[in-house]
Amino acid sequence: MKNYKIAVVPGDGIGHEIVPAGLKVVEAVASNHNFKIDTEFYPWGAGYYKRHGEFMPEDGLATLQKFDAIYFGAVGLPEVDDTLPAKLYTFKVRKSFEQYVNYRPVRLLPGIESPLRYKQREDIDFVVIRENNEGEFVQNGEIVNPDTPEGYATDTSLFTRKGIENVANYAFQLAQKRRKKLTNVTKSNTLINSLLYWDTVIAEVAQNYSDVTYNKMYVDNAAASFVLKPETFDVILTTNMIGDILSDLGGAIMGSLGFGPSGNINPEKIYPSMFEPIHGSAPDIAGQNIANPIGAIWSAALMLEHLGEKDAAADIISGIEETTRKQTLTVDVGGKASTSDIADSIVDHLSTKV
Ligand code: ATP
Ligand code: MG
Repeated sequence: MKNYKIAVVPGDGIGHEIVPAGLKVVEAVASNHNFKIDTEFYPWGAGYYKRHGEFMPEDGLATLQKFDAIYFGAVGLPEVDDTLPAKLYTFKVRKSFEQYVNYRPVRLLPGIESPLRYKQREDIDFVVIRENNEGEFVQNGEIVNPDTPEGYATDTSLFTRKGIENVANYAFQLAQKRRKKLTNVTKSNTLINSLLYWDTVIAEVAQNYSDVTYNKMYVDNAAASFVLKPETFDVILTTNMIGDILSDLGGAIMGSLGFGPSGNINPEKIYPSMFEPIHGSAPDIAGQNIANPIGAIWSAALMLEHLGEKDAAADIISGIEETTRKQTLTVDVGGKASTSDIADSIVDHLSTKV
């Protein structure tokens, strides 16, 4: 029997509620599909930072590296400044484990009304592939003489040929498995060095995928199109910062941030990949068993798919769809169900599949 080793980092806030919900579903699906999950929990995040002055121990990365995948909740507490290395935990993991793809599906679930009310379910089904390791977020810059009239500040983006090619190849191969359309979302009309280079390299990569329809769109137009004509998108390939912003917009058009899943993927599988919902630790609703766990449960499905358990992943997705279809919903989308009710509903659905 296959046995996967999963490092579990619930993090802070609702991470402690949604991660157990996801694991409950994973346990159920594993026994149906004849594999085992061995979990090891790590109490890292902003709470850990308050106690130890760091988000994870010195040897944290070495510890994580031994696992097949990392299942992560969310980090952040209101009393811990998040310009601090708050996100350092995720930054470090993404960078050190060469998780250069950030994979974020945007799909309207059955029975859920999008805030774009006139849109049908099948209108909203695309994936945002965000470059995850470089670009605008390399944190290379300085603040000079801030309190003087000459004060100024800089942040320099860094885009490498290798980095662009890697994420582009992943995105085009994904498009080949979907509706064969790829939109490069860029802003090369104003970022005339970095993003012009980005566009040039992507256009070169596109030559190798003649079966994929390739087009380019500026982010201002893309943001408007997310709202007005989401049906025109299949795979979106974009930079670290643009992807960060657009994928939250994607979560919103799914009806709740609580639905959005993501994977930080090392496609070569040299290092473990990390799976987490797109939302944060939501301290305002933590501890009440009311958080929507679907983003976390869907992220667990992405994890199983990455590990090669495609049928198990598909069963989880159909359990999620069945649950929203029959209107078992949490308060963020107008329902009364608790976090654990959602997990139980999906587990019930899985038991019908044995
Ligand atoms: P981060 O900086 O870590 O992304 P954030 O400041 O963007 O965090 P979130 O923690 O994502 O904020 O919360 C934003 C809002 O969405 C909050 O009102 C929160 O309660 C709500 N929210 C987030 N996740 C969920 C969820 N799973 N279920 C219900 N509501 C949620
Ligand atoms: Mg956020």
